[in-house]
Amino acid sequence: MLSLNSPISDISGIGKALAKRFSNINLETVSDLIFCFPFRYEDYGKVISINDLSVEQTATILGTVDLISNRRSARKRKMLTEAIVSDVSGSVKIVWFNQPWIGKSLRQGDKLYISGKVTGDMFNVYFNSPMYEKYSSNFSPMGIIPVYSSTEGLSQKQIRTVIKSAIHLIDSIEEFLPVEIIKRENLMGLSQALNAVHFPKDMISLEKARRRLAFDELFLVQLWSQALKRENASQKAIAQKFFEAETKEFIAKLKFELTLDQKRSAWEIMKDMMRPTPMNRLLNGDVGSGKTVVAALGIYQNYLNGAQSAIMVPTEILAMQHYKNLHNLFAGTELKIGLMTRTQKLFKGEKISKNKFIEKCKSGEIDLIVGTHALIQDGVEFAKLGLAIVDEQHRFGVEQRHKLIKRGEEARRPHFLSLTATPIPRSLALVVYGDLDLSLIKQMPKGRKKILTKIVPPDKRGEAYKFIDSQIKLGRQIFVICPLIDPSDKLGVRSVTEEFEKLDKFIFPHLSVGLLHGRLKSEEKEEVMSKFAGGELKILVSTSVVEVGVDVPNASIMMIEGAERFGLAQLHQFRGRVGRAEFQSFCFLFSDSDDMKSIQRLKYLEQCHDGFELAQRDLELRGSGAIHGQEQSGFAEFQIADINDLEQIKKAKEIAEELAVEGLERYLALLKKLEDYKFTYHRE
Ligand code: ADP
Ligand code: MG
Repeated sequence: MLSLNSPISDISGIGKALAKRFSNINLETVSDLIFCFPFRYEDYGKVISINDLSVEQTATILGTVDLISNRRSARKRKMLTEAIVSDVSGSVKIVWFNQPWIGKSLRQGDKLYISGKVTGDMFNVYFNSPMYEKYSSNFSPMGIIPVYSSTEGLSQKQIRTVIKSAIHLIDSIEEFLPVEIIKRENLMGLSQALNAVHFPKDMISLEKARRRLAFDELFLVQLWSQALKRENASQKAIAQKFFEAETKEFIAKLKFELTLDQKRSAWEIMKDMMRPTPMNRLLNGDVGSGKTVVAALGIYQNYLNGAQSAIMVPTEILAMQHYKNLHNLFAGTELKIGLMTRTQKLFKGEKISKNKFIEKCKSGEIDLIVGTHALIQDGVEFAKLGLAIVDEQHRFGVEQRHKLIKRGEEARRPHFLSLTATPIPRSLALVVYGDLDLSLIKQMPKGRKKILTKIVPPDKRGEAYKFIDSQIKLGRQIFVICPLIDPSDKLGVRSVTEEFEKLDKFIFPHLSVGLLHGRLKSEEKEEVMSKFAGGELKILVSTSVVEVGVDVPNASIMMIEGAERFGLAQLHQFRGRVGRAEFQSFCFLFSDSDDMKSIQRLKYLEQCHDGFELAQRDLELRGSGAIHGQEQSGFAEFQIADINDLEQIKKAKEIAEELAVEGLERYLALLKKLEDYKFTYHRE
């Protein structure tokens, strides 16, 4: 008997191969299927005559196949299926890309429904990769059709069919929202909503279903942050003193003037640390906005209060960079810094043994420890940890952050500060980081050069390569970023390797080219990265794993392949890898997409250099999933919630707070749902 927990392969008609494809998009069980919501809908309305088709319209026709054939397109090596379909009013061309089976399964004379967007110009109207359904008297694909995220070899039709065969199980899913809330907020019941979202009857009930499911996503994340917040508030920390004179002197000695945002953020941090409960704050500022010095002000106050600080970063190179920078920042003080990574332990600029290091940390001789995961793995103990900082916080799991915090004493939790360069619009931050207080640095320090950004059309590729060559002759270095093309190749190894070979063997055979991707061991990654940072490699071809925080001042070009596949905010982050020195830097966006919307979207990048604005655009255009890359699952819980809907976000927050005060004990189904939720999205 099929149940919610059955693997998808138990559904009749699903073989191993098909189940594998579902698994590639993280759908393993029947329940996963039911909770996988369409990401959009197409409203096909009624069948219209071919004669009445107009460009840009979404339409359905019913016609007969006159001609159908497969061929290879010359330029793009894609498989092309072309057909002519006609009804009594006229005929229209249909094109499908890379779905050769269509050419084999349809024949001349077949009667079909064709549904999709009409493409073309005034003279030449055609359907580009539309859906189709063979005509039968008892079925028509008219009305509202859901569209699901998919992968190679998994058609919309297959997904719909599979969901249909599991739909009867929806009724066995337990309602988890308290009845009072459902009534008061006029929400649709869970099983009704799940039914409607997959098989919408009309727009009104679909909207209501989406509103209910969106509420669930927002509500659960709020409940969870409430729990975290309460837990934090029940902890004790040392309420610090503010050392006004010393702080002013430190600031006066800096080689630059702090921006207003930096001052405000630093003050927010220092004030938090003056309270008897642990600070739990996120410092969010674009790449290069100067987060380090803000963190340093917190570290300094902590030091003046006689406590130790620790800063944890995701890689050895970053640790080294932070160590050097902080060393310079604290040069005029007595504060002593140590570096601890897997391969290196430094104290007062000198190498020391691991045992010595651990001893000095335990005795309190080291005031500030900069390190990688080694900090939480190798039995490091502190005399008195007062401030724990995590840089590029999205790179660490909740668990790792907790481990760092727990290096402090039980009775005196350290204050906690996260740094991130991923610009997050306020509304989104409210949702995702509901348990954290937020400081923003929006202003960039004065005098930064803009990075010249250009979309490069396919026929200008050669010129771009020539330009790259000329930059390298000037002594510069180049980043090349490749996207993930096939979701089943989760680390994007295939496309990046192909690109690497092309550049290394054919385009720049005279230059040293390096390759970086997620399947390399972390030591291998570090080695490639440090060779590039050291100038030994001139070109670095990488997936999006390229270290977010690493400084290679000599790099002047960021070249991004398949740019349309990335979010704007993410592209902006890549772009932030260059332009770190005095010379003009460039960002080239390559795209083979013919889709006008994608190109329009990329055009924002040419003009806009503000990470927050770009992130906001992303959010409006593509939803929250676009803010982080696919491999960073931080926002995976939002399939359907509209993060721009502040109204609903506030409502969900209010109700979560209300329930948190009342206590959840009465609501067993909700408690259980919350447990599942924590496990699925936060691995707690
Ligand atoms: P990020 O926010 O990316 O971590 P960093 O803290 O590494 O940025 O700062 C980037 C660079 O900008 C550093 O070289 C730092 O010394 C410099 N910097 C920071 N604040 C200012 C400022 N207010 N004016 C000028 N330069 C600054
Ligand atoms: Mg930084």
